[in-house]
Amino acid sequence: MKVNEIFYSIQGESTFAGLPCVFVRLTGCILRCSYCDTKYAYEEGEEKSIDEIIKIVNSYNCNLVEITGGEPLLQSETVELTNKLVENQKVVLVETNGSLDISVLKEPVVRIVDIKCPGSKEHQKMFWDNLRNLRPDDNVKFVLTDRYDFDWALIIVEKFELLDKANVLFSPAFKILEPEKLSNWILKTSLPIRMQLQLHKYIWHPNKRGV
Ligand code: SF4
Repeated sequence: MKVNEIFYSIQGESTFAGLPCVFVRLTGCILRCSYCDTKYAYEEGEEKSIDEIIKIVNSYNCNLVEITGGEPLLQSETVELTNKLVENQKVVLVETNGSLDISVLKEPVVRIVDIKCPGSKEHQKMFWDNLRNLRPDDNVKFVLTDRYDFDWALIIVEKFELLDKANVLFSPAFKILEPEKLSNWILKTSLPIRMQLQLHKYIWHPNKRGV
């Protein structure tokens, strides 16, 4: 597999936010979001076997692992990697950009599925069937750049009845939408939408890699 980086940090997002976590960042992405903060994962990386990845992950005393990218589902071996991590007693999260079929990831893998809003400029590339195949532990994440994105996201939440199916998270695009503004908009809806910040960007320097 082509691996960009493997590191141990605080999980900055999702319903697992705040917990120690090992991250496996895979190389390659088919999208080019306007606010992308991991452009270095488009190409950079080294080939590693699944066994080598598992060995590195197991060297950390941590049972929570996230496979991220880039877009992890671009590499067909990702499914086998998640299966082997589960066999190794890990709690496995996969963060995916929402453009590919997530049904290849079987329980107990938790899928963190991005829904790209218009502000990303990639919203037309979503694989919408993903929203009909969610499990209660899955996370559906909207990164919002402005009020238009917010209203658009609410329509999607309602149309696919997402609040009945999974955890719904709204996240402000870092340094583009003010967290306070988004919080106030969420409060006015009275809906159980989870406001989330990218914790790692507040703990460490926002451009720091490997955290
Ligand atoms: S999906 Fe993620 S890695 Fe890919 S372009 Fe968008 S923000 Fe960047």
